[in-house]
Amino acid sequence: MDAKTRERYSRQILFAEIGEQGQERLRASSAVVVGCGALGTALANLLVRAGLGHLRIIDRDFVEESNLQRQTLFEESDARDALPKAVAAERRLAAINSDVKVEGIVADLDAKNAEDLLGGFPLLLDGTDNFEARLLVNDYAVKQGISWVYAAVVASYGVTMAIRPGQTPCLACLAESDEVVDGNHAPGEGGQNGPGPFAAPGAQATCDTVGVLGAAAGVIASIEASLALKLLLGKMQALDDRLLSFDVWTGRSQAIRVARRPNCRACGRREFRYLTGEAQPHVTMCGRDSVQIHERRRRLDLAQLGRNLAAGGGEVRHNEFLLRFRVPPYEVTVFADGRAIIKGTRDPAVARSLYARYVGA
Ligand SMILES: [Zn+2]
Repeated sequence: MDAKTRERYSRQILFAEIGEQGQERLRASSAVVVGCGALGTALANLLVRAGLGHLRIIDRDFVEESNLQRQTLFEESDARDALPKAVAAERRLAAINSDVKVEGIVADLDAKNAEDLLGGFPLLLDGTDNFEARLLVNDYAVKQGISWVYAAVVASYGVTMAIRPGQTPCLACLAESDEVVDGNHAPGEGGQNGPGPFAAPGAQATCDTVGVLGAAAGVIASIEASLALKLLLGKMQALDDRLLSFDVWTGRSQAIRVARRPNCRACGRREFRYLTGEAQPHVTMCGRDSVQIHERRRRLDLAQLGRNLAAGGGEVRHNEFLLRFRVPPYEVTVFADGRAIIKGTRDPAVARSLYARYVGA
């Protein structure tokens, strides 16, 4: 390790559990952050500053004004320019630590691209905002035997849990069970804020319905980052594999031992239905009043589409990553991979018809 590197990471090297050897090990390590919202930005910031060798960030969305309250890597100009979050995060992180290979990928993780996007990394980290994506990551990690850290946050409350396939319970053990976990807490039960973020898909409160505090995301992302460091450093004795929760409003924290279920669909029976695409709908809800249409393997010429729409008299804005136009009361954002997010409706039929009409069937 050269003197400059030793100086840069001196406070972390002084921490006895890491030391110079641990720092070298971090430098040789890599991880993927799936989802770059409140958790993902805080987590990526911590890991890039800590001196990870290579961090990949996957996100499907673009920066909006309402993200700035808690998504700590983004600025007003990113929202103004409608930059994809993965792109904005990569730029910011590269400026924070040029030692780290930071790779922002604009994509919606799904069964078809999971191997391409997650393959070759020893650690996967949860920055997603929905259970379908988490169970997909869980299926991939369990199938491949890769460690991952689950995390979720809503309102003032969040949870996180380190998962080592074969050693610890997996997310399906927790989320797909109806059993009581430790005599007091069923998996779907949150803090005092109604259903917790680890309720079954479709049943949970989300940030779009009950809001979220930046402080809660910061705490959970910090715990998640420390679990990630222990996994990357091989400090398994220090690793807490319980479901850790913290509520920044009430100050209540819990550590719940989750039972590994021998009959678990994923880690027991090894049925990876999220990887076969059976669980992935073609159209999904995306936030409070948006529908996402997945049209993959269909590269769009955004410049050409923009010219066509503008010729039709529409109000069109585009950058090199996405194109956005308004069809009042709707707003349609189209990505180069053919995906689109239609804001202003919860009705998949309306979204489909707008897509077919303006982007092409
Ligand atoms: Zn399991």
